[in-house]
Amino acid sequence: VKILLKNGEVASSQGTNKVDVLIEDGKIVKVSDEIEQDGVEVIDCSEKLILPGAIDVHVHFREPGESYKEDWESGSSAAAAGGVTTVFDMPNNKPPIVTLEALEKKREIIKGRSYVNYGLYMGFNGKNLDEVNKAKGIAGVKMYCAHSTGGMGVGEKDIEKLIAGVAEDKHVVVHAEDEACIDKLRKEYLVEFEGREKEIPVSLHSKIRSKECGVKMVEHICELAKKYQQPVHICHVSSEEELDVISRYREFGVTCEVCPHHLSFSVDDYEYYGAFIKMNPPVRDKMDVFGLWKSLKMGMVDVIATDHAPHAIVEKELPGLEPPSGVPGVEMMLPIMLHGVNNDALEIGEVVWLCSENPARLWGLNSKGKVEEGFDADVVVVDMEIERKFDREDVVSKCKWSPYAGGTYQGWPIVTIVGGEVVFRDGKIVGTARGEEVF
Ligand SMILES: [Zn+2]
Repeated sequence: VKILLKNGEVASSQGTNKVDVLIEDGKIVKVSDEIEQDGVEVIDCSEKLILPGAIDVHVHFREPGESYKEDWESGSSAAAAGGVTTVFDMPNNKPPIVTLEALEKKREIIKGRSYVNYGLYMGFNGKNLDEVNKAKGIAGVKMYCAHSTGGMGVGEKDIEKLIAGVAEDKHVVVHAEDEACIDKLRKEYLVEFEGREKEIPVSLHSKIRSKECGVKMVEHICELAKKYQQPVHICHVSSEEELDVISRYREFGVTCEVCPHHLSFSVDDYEYYGAFIKMNPPVRDKMDVFGLWKSLKMGMVDVIATDHAPHAIVEKELPGLEPPSGVPGVEMMLPIMLHGVNNDALEIGEVVWLCSENPARLWGLNSKGKVEEGFDADVVVVDMEIERKFDREDVVSKCKWSPYAGGTYQGWPIVTIVGGEVVFRDGKIVGTARGEEVF
């Protein structure tokens, strides 16, 4: 397949540049002024921006084991619709991906079914360090310092075990909340609800999993990164305080991500959304939301990732604190960031850096993250003018709800190209599931 993107403006972290882009056999073969070529499919990109496809380093596509919430066709379709061309999938499946055997089975399950490229994480459960170190071709190893969805939390001693002994070629990614801290607050807050658990207001979720419990574990992880000279990536940072800690440990290779939901919602929104904004770590105060936007602008955040974690509507409608934590987001990451650009919160170059260039750089995907000659043809064409309400009917994810539904956003992906083939155009998935494993 040959595709010529004509008359668009290519965006990178350095700004925008009005050039044509020629794609052939899955690669970007030419980027220059006024390319003329016969026998190609021409896509008119006048008044449009051409971005490297976004790389979402944190999704949960729920296979194997929970395909009623999401599966690879639906999850990767949602990604493609949102201009995300590569995803890294988390290991808290059923069964959890903590053995080489489980990893290979998962690879078999996914093969030939993904509309976008992908990488897979293995999970560390405190006992499988050898197995983790032997794994080949993975996005990294995920450690949950507190129990979250999937029951993969590891104990205090085991946290150090991973950071001390992980093989050099493995990317360590951490869910950093302090379990003991959370347990103490849970007891304090829930004692008055004994015997009437169904009446617990969901807003207590943010008080129980407090900011302080997050900061405490981030500090601990950063200290371990320093002690063992082991780079660590901290997932879903929800406050400026955590970012302040991380900024002091940059030289030891500590990096972090921020999620669109922590940039969009605060505790004030529980009243309207209820458990549909329950996630771990939870939403914080409105000031924290501002703080995160400010930190993005100041360059204190390495990547935007969604922690796309769909659950069934019936699960989210359970009473008290019973609803599982997690919200979908992969299809809305780019629209939310583009909306931010349209509202002067960020510049387009900063969005490309946070969503494409830097994730590619940090994970060593040397042929991704840029629209340049020789790079993989993972590209998204966006229209910064389209202003559209996102409705529940628009949700591509199998869960069929989204905390962003009802919101109006300006700036949308209109064409997504994965591996040189158009997979999404004009609101529809049009290509075949030819996404490849990238590591
Ligand atoms: Zn997650």
